[in-house]
Amino acid sequence: MKARVTVLGSGTSHGVPMIGCTCAVCRSADERDRRTRPSIYIDVDAGPKLLVDTSTDLRTQALARGVTAVDAILFTHSHADHIMGLDDSRRFSQMKKASIPCYADAATIAALKKSFHYAFDPATEKGGGLPQIDLHEITGPFAIGGVDIRPIPLMHGSRPILGFRFGDFAYLTDTNHVPETSFPLLDGVRIVILDALRHRPHPTHFTVAEALKVLERVGPEQSYLTHICHDLPHVATNASLPAGVELAYDGLAFDIEVNRSSFATAAEDQWT
Ligand SMILES: [Zn+2]
Ligand SMILES: [Zn+2]
Ligand SMILES: [Zn+2]
Repeated sequence: MKARVTVLGSGTSHGVPMIGCTCAVCRSADERDRRTRPSIYIDVDAGPKLLVDTSTDLRTQALARGVTAVDAILFTHSHADHIMGLDDSRRFSQMKKASIPCYADAATIAALKKSFHYAFDPATEKGGGLPQIDLHEITGPFAIGGVDIRPIPLMHGSRPILGFRFGDFAYLTDTNHVPETSFPLLDGVRIVILDALRHRPHPTHFTVAEALKVLERVGPEQSYLTHICHDLPHVATNASLPAGVELAYDGLAFDIEVNRSSFATAAEDQWT
């Protein structure tokens, strides 16, 4: 099954430009140097429309990229830049006339219930509309709308988080360490989006050089670096990267091939 991936946001948690910064990248006229908070959208041909993370910028990203439907949301982890747009999922559930299944690990589910307590509290007055979401814990490979999805365990500092593999594509944001046991899960992947914050070391994100080392081992045809801060100008950085590796940018889109799920229907979710 064919699918189209769109990068909704390629920036680090501050976004680029960063508030109060006058550096060359924050003042750049190149659209590709304007980076909203990290998220991707996957539109499967005749299949589900998947959102990975609900970034702080979800509303503006949906308007900018013409995202008018979301059938399910996958969360990588619960840092603010990845979840704070969840309230804006209201429009998608209103238009779908159904709640939206959300998939996350146990720690992220607990954090979502805390951060968005009003959405889960039956006593909340419904006046302004509430996000209608059903939480599903990820404990292994799963399926949404017949599409096979493989969680890829990653380390983000001391915190275990999830990347995701969809057929020949893997989305690996917010990491500074790929555990040894996760490399086999990436065998044969054709396109990878991987975290690379900047050149200077960081305790929870890969540098460009660290990301390149991982990519060399995984060996995809094409890679894109994401979660980028204002240290990396788009054009100049791309000129310094090896063939087949580029910085992602907001609005970048490419085609992938996803797999039909081989799981029993018990593993299938409520997506309809
Ligand atoms: Zn992040
Ligand atoms: Zn700046
Ligand atoms: Zn994070």
